[in-house]
Formats: sequence, C-alpha cells, structure tokens
Amino acid sequence: MPRLTLQFWKWKLATQILAGLLLGASLGLLTQFLFPGSARLDWALQKFIAPAGQVFLRIIFMVIVPLVISAVMLGVAGMGDLRQLGRVGLKCLGMTLLLAGASVAIGLLMVNVIKPGQYLDAEKSAALRAQYSTAAVENVRQGEAKVDISTLLLNFIPKNPIADAARIFTDRDDGNALLAVMVFSVFAGLAIICCPVEKMTPLISVLESIFALSLKVIDFAMAIAPFCVACLAFNITAKLGFGIVTTLGAYVVTVMLGFLLHAFVTYPLVLWFMGRKSPLEFYRQVQEAVYTAFGTSSSNATLPVSLEVAERDLKLPPQLSRFVLTVGATANQNGTALYEGVTVLFLAQVFGVHLHLGQQLVVAAMCILAGIGTAGVPGGSLPLVVGVLVTVGIPGEAIAIILGIDRFLDMCRTVLNVTGDLVIAVVVSGKDKKLLDGN
Ligand code: ASP
Repeated sequence: MPRLTLQFWKWKLATQILAGLLLGASLGLLTQFLFPGSARLDWALQKFIAPAGQVFLRIIFMVIVPLVISAVMLGVAGMGDLRQLGRVGLKCLGMTLLLAGASVAIGLLMVNVIKPGQYLDAEKSAALRAQYSTAAVENVRQGEAKVDISTLLLNFIPKNPIADAARIFTDRDDGNALLAVMVFSVFAGLAIICCPVEKMTPLISVLESIFALSLKVIDFAMAIAPFCVACLAFNITAKLGFGIVTTLGAYVVTVMLGFLLHAFVTYPLVLWFMGRKSPLEFYRQVQEAVYTAFGTSSSNATLPVSLEVAERDLKLPPQLSRFVLTVGATANQNGTALYEGVTVLFLAQVFGVHLHLGQQLVVAAMCILAGIGTAGVPGGSLPLVVGVLVTVGIPGEAIAIILGIDRFLDMCRTVLNVTGDLVIAVVVSGKDKKLLDGN
C-alpha cells in the first residue's frame, strides 16, 4: 500500500496544485464566515493575497505571444506532408476542422443552455466585476453595439499582426488581437508548407526553439502554481463564499455533458456515416488508447499506444495512420477546443461579461485555432485559455476558479483528443485504403 508522505514538495505537481486550491479555498471560506464584509479583509486581499497570486499569471502572460505564434505555425507547417499525401492530407485537414467545429459548437450550446456561471448571484458577480474591472471589459462592452458580421469577418484578417501582437493584454485590445495573431500564424504556417524545404528548415528550427523556450517559462510558472493557486483561491472564496463552489460544480457538469455528447453522438455519427464502422466495435478496439490518454493527460505520451491500436486493432494502413495520428496528436484537439469554449463562456458568465453572438463566434474561432496550437501535454491548453480570457475582457485571475479541478478535466479531454484522432484515421482510411495499399 502506498505510504502517504507529508513532504509536500515530493508530491506530483497536479496533487500539489489541488492541495493548494483546497487549502486556499477552505481558508477563504473560513475567513468569509468569520469576517463577512470586513474592510480590513478587503484591504489585505487587495494588497497582499491577490498580487501574490498574480505572479503566476504574469509569467504565463509573458510568453503567450511567442507561444501562440510558434505553436500555431508549427502545427500548420506540420501538415507539410499534405502535398505528398495529397487527397488524404486534405481530407485529414477537412475532418480536423469539421470535428473541432462540432466540438466547439456543442460546448457553446451546453454553456448557453445550462448557464453554469449564473449560479453565482448577481450581487457577487457585480462585486467581482468591480474589483477586476479592466479597460478590456469596457472595450468589449463598447464594441457590443456596433459589431456587424462583415466587419467581424474582415477583422479576422490582420492588417498589421505586429501591431496586434503589441495590443494583446493592453487597454487597446478590443478582443480581436489574439485571434489576429493566430490567423497570421496560420497563414505563415501555410506559407512554410509552400516554400522550398531547404529554405524553411532554419526557420522551423528557430520556431521549435521558441516553442520549447515558451514551454520552459510556463514550467517556471507551474513550479510556483501551488502557492499562487492557494492565494488566488483564497482571494476568490473569501470574497464570494460558498456560492462559487456550487457554481464550479455546475461548470464541471456542463463540460462533462459536452464531452459525453461529443464522444457518444458526434463520433459515432461520423464513424457510422463517414467511416462505415460500428461505433461499438470502434470503442472496444481503442480501449487501450483511451485508458492511456486518461492516465497520462497527454496526447503526445499516448501517441505510441494510438499507433499500435490503429495498426493492430483497427487494422488501418500503417502509412496512413502514422501520418494522421502524428499530426493529430498536436493539431487535432477536440476535447480541448470544447473545454476552452465552455470555460471562457462560463467565466464570462461568472464575471457578468455579456458576450453577444458575434463575440461568441470569435471565441469559437479562437478555440478551434487554439486547439491546433495546444501542446499535447498535461495542462497544455492552460496558457491559451488565459490568453483567450483576457482577450475577451475577462481578467486572467479568473483561471484560478477552475485551476484546481483542471487535472481531472484534462484527463477527460485528452481521451476525447486521442479518440478524435483515431476517428479521423478510420474515416480517412475507409476510402483511401486501396489507394495507399497500392502505393
Ligand atoms: N492535455 C491535453 C492533451 O495532451 C492538452 C490540454 O488540453 O491541456 O491532449
């Protein structure tokens, strides 16, 4: 039987973060119970606790721009074999966009129907807004009335991505800057595919270095996450009391329902109609990959198992499954896209930031692109969620509300990410099997 060690620093990081959350939240609840509405408490929260929690977020903010640019460019450029694989590659790209679109749509539908954030009463939500009110929130508000759909679509294409990158996380961000940078990165990634390989190799190495560096900086942030999460959780529960705990429960239910719908409705429909395969048989055959994804919370770590499952159990042509699954492990993240959509809208509801349809479409587009840019590692989507949040006018601190339970949701969304790759492999190979076998 494993012995419970009390040496906190020897625990796994996810356990440390959960412990930080529980400690911060319970102390916060206790403080709220003992000193409700105390002005001194507010002063202490604002002067000491909130800034301590901020350190973690600031370190993440620092690398959002280089992270997004390098990750999305590499994700798109990674599909470079499209030219060699021709029709198969294009189908794979089409399926990736279709499934990501469907997953985000399900997520947004669920969060709009269940409205988990509205379990928090209006008065507390207003208090939160007042404390964190940023110019970005105001900008989003001002933008609400005057957005028309053609301007919105045109705004997706940046005129000056460098200026947009410089606006991110500043008062001048109208909610489109991060998306503009993502769209630029998609174009740049496509251009890499179309340029001669020998000219692009040095650029790809530089991008890989920038990506690795950004992830390392995020590791630094994660190292202090348990302490910072405790502070952020203390700050929020001391202010909001028990209301936030029930609200969080409603959020988890919303995300899980979205996952279940996608896994047991979208995937089976796609398998049945596009892959001509029985969904029951599929789920029986991919069990090993599902368990590994759940256990590791990492699409990358599950890749070897997915490859084996594809060849041994699903009997897919190796050349094809290797291509689809390798690209999919980084570029096709259905569970992540769904979770990001729900999370951003949930936190918008908690903060009482109303996002109209046009803005929700912007969030959806960002989530699909963020799915391409998410590293297939535990918590890989976290920095991107923070980026999208701030972009639509919700303070980054809001992430603290969901951070403690993130590991569990991460395990579940990774299952969806990995099965999504296998679904695409089945569909694509259905019609192209003969073509590839004949190669
Ligand atoms: N853990 C996920 C994966 O590896 C990424 C994420 O959503 O954080 O697929």
